[in-house]
Amino acid sequence: AKHQGKSSYALFTPEMTEVSHERLHMESHMRKALELNEFQLVFQPIVETSSGKLMATEALLRWNNPSLGTVMPDRFIPLAEETGLIIPIGEWVIQEACKAAQCWQALTGYDIGIAVNVSPRQFRDPGFTDIVLKALADSHLKPELLELEITERLILDNTIETADILRQLDAAGIRLSVDDFGTGYSALSYLKTYPFDTLKIDRSFIQDVLTDTDDSALVRAIINMAHSLGLTVIAEGVEEEAQTHFLKSEHCDYSQGYFYSRPLPEQEFIHWLENNHRA
Ligand code: C2E
Ligand code: CA
Ligand code: CA
Ligand code: CA
Repeated sequence: AKHQGKSSYALFTPEMTEVSHERLHMESHMRKALELNEFQLVFQPIVETSSGKLMATEALLRWNNPSLGTVMPDRFIPLAEETGLIIPIGEWVIQEACKAAQCWQALTGYDIGIAVNVSPRQFRDPGFTDIVLKALADSHLKPELLELEITERLILDNTIETADILRQLDAAGIRLSVDDFGTGYSALSYLKTYPFDTLKIDRSFIQDVLTDTDDSALVRAIINMAHSLGLTVIAEGVEEEAQTHFLKSEHCDYSQGYFYSRPLPEQEFIHWLENNHRA
């Protein structure tokens, strides 16, 4: 009895009550956040490695809440996934991202791709394909300018539906990329069977590419493999000029990271692109 008492006490430590309280607090705020217009997209340039010119941009979500401050996605996306709120939030992201990209096209005359992150729960929602097609129709954005980023982990939960949805999106002309490539401990065979266009090499490989010969060998091998399969490669998390020299010499197609630009609010992004577009 004594033992039991002790363990049931351990289930209700003040710390745990605090954690679940914070969770509930965040959840109740999150339920109203769309209505209250608290979400914001910021945009990080993706540039051609050889020239440094803008090719596309990744839309990244921010949540500005008066009582929580600016909440970063790593803090709220998991909760949004658990509660299912990621479905309406994700729909908002896709709608806004397509509208923004169409607006830049009209403003500059250049085709600027937009990459959008898709989380597993969102991808498995039966309405997902329709949500994407509707966002394209509403915004009049060319489908080939929209790229959906899907993590390796999602692809590994290999189901018939995953393959079907990817094929439908591919058939609609939308581009598909594998995000965080190299972190999924995967068999690579899915690259052959699924219609991906792009591999994004995870930041963890790029970080030490100059000092760790294993990482440089892996990055080189990933680029060569991707090219032999007809895939485009993006290096993520490029922070230093020396890394860009390595990536250039290895013919990595595109790069993204703080060295080029942090994720920017839309107006600042428009300034950035006016100075860095492809012409
Ligand atoms: P991710 O898709 O891998 O996005 C790249 C993350 O790396 C971003 O963090 C970006 O700000 C950061 N980053 C970019 N360049 C550098 C660099 O040079 N150095 C370092 N240290 N970091 C860099 P962020 O914006 O905090 O997003 C974190 C993750 O949250 C994203 O990782 C993505 O998985 C998720 N996420 C963001 N927006 C959305 C969204 O709209 N929907 C979903 N489902 N997930 C999202
Ligand atoms: Ca991403
Ligand atoms: Ca494709
Ligand atoms: Ca990534």
